[in-house]
Amino acid sequence: MAKTISPETIAAQAGGLVDATTGSIIPPIHTATTYIRDPDNQYRRGFSYGRPDTPNVRQAESVLQDLEGAAACLMFGSGMAAATTAFLALARPAHVIAPNVMYWAMKKWLAGDAGTLGIDATFVDATSTDAIKAAIQAGRTRMIWLETPANPTWAVSDIAAIAAIAHDAGAILGVDSTIATPVLTRPLALGADLVMHSATKYLNGHSDVLAGALAFARRDAVFDQAVRHRANLGAVLAPFEAYLLLRGMRTLHVRVRHASAAALALARHFAQDPRILEVLYPGLQSDRGHAVAARQMQGGFGGMLSVRVKGGEAIAIRTAGNVKIWKRATSLGGVESLIEHRASVEGAGTPCPPDLLRLSVGLESPADLIADLEQALG
Ligand code: PLP
Repeated sequence: MAKTISPETIAAQAGGLVDATTGSIIPPIHTATTYIRDPDNQYRRGFSYGRPDTPNVRQAESVLQDLEGAAACLMFGSGMAAATTAFLALARPAHVIAPNVMYWAMKKWLAGDAGTLGIDATFVDATSTDAIKAAIQAGRTRMIWLETPANPTWAVSDIAAIAAIAHDAGAILGVDSTIATPVLTRPLALGADLVMHSATKYLNGHSDVLAGALAFARRDAVFDQAVRHRANLGAVLAPFEAYLLLRGMRTLHVRVRHASAAALALARHFAQDPRILEVLYPGLQSDRGHAVAARQMQGGFGGMLSVRVKGGEAIAIRTAGNVKIWKRATSLGGVESLIEHRASVEGAGTPCPPDLLRLSVGLESPADLIADLEQALG
């Protein structure tokens, strides 16, 4: 499909996909794990075995590749599989710089297991370009990793400025863009070298698929290593999940735009509430990250916000316990709104304040969500 076609059209029509055999406008699910060889021993149709990749996986990859403006895209069985593969694809020894505040399981992996694999991480305040510059180890730093907006405070990092710092140091920039989605931010166009998504969240959008993605600015050595690791580790997305993910991405734009508008309405409302200490949301003009977010996010600030309640942890947990419409559950980016006492999930050593409730805004009426949280605050 021509690159001039709008992202909404690419997503809604899954890249214009029509099944060549039947003319069906919805792709069949190819469950085969093995493919026939040509009589002369070749695999001209491009598929040989299900572990490197499959037709449904390639279809989902092709749509995300276009949405991110990438040279290549790889789908994985989870966001963690995608993110860890991005680090495993680096040449060793590898020093990497990552945010103090980021998806906690990824931070734990970087601070623990990654060290045994020749990957040595320095954690910094990734909202500060000075802090990032100071953490560069000349000749050793191979990747700067950002998550923006970052779980669970929605701190914002300046992708373009940090891409320049990475490139000056001979490193690459990887961005976990799960929260922004390609609807609101296209990190590769801002200078990033790779983009990662927990496709479990907004890309799929229905809380029924575990998936991850890497989108690459170039088909370079890091891409080749990621392809190799995905095949060797068996980390590829399964065909049915790829089918569901493609179906979810068809509605990505309307879902993300609705969630962003609703999250902004909630943020503005609860910023005035005397029971709330602070609302964390980059769409608020008072937010520390607002100026950078306004520059690098288009059409909204995302569907995630957090509120810090007055009275501390006990009141936060009581509030989550009182909701009737919001669902008390982890994860984010689905059609149903979720509330979570985040510090309970992250455990000891978390930078998450104990009075913080993380809110994932779904597609319900914003008035219902506001009223429910109002009554839950008591
Ligand atoms: N990155 C972010 C920002 C996330 O929120 C998550 C999951 O919550 C992940 C990565 C990991 O993704 P998955 O749970 O699909 O492995």
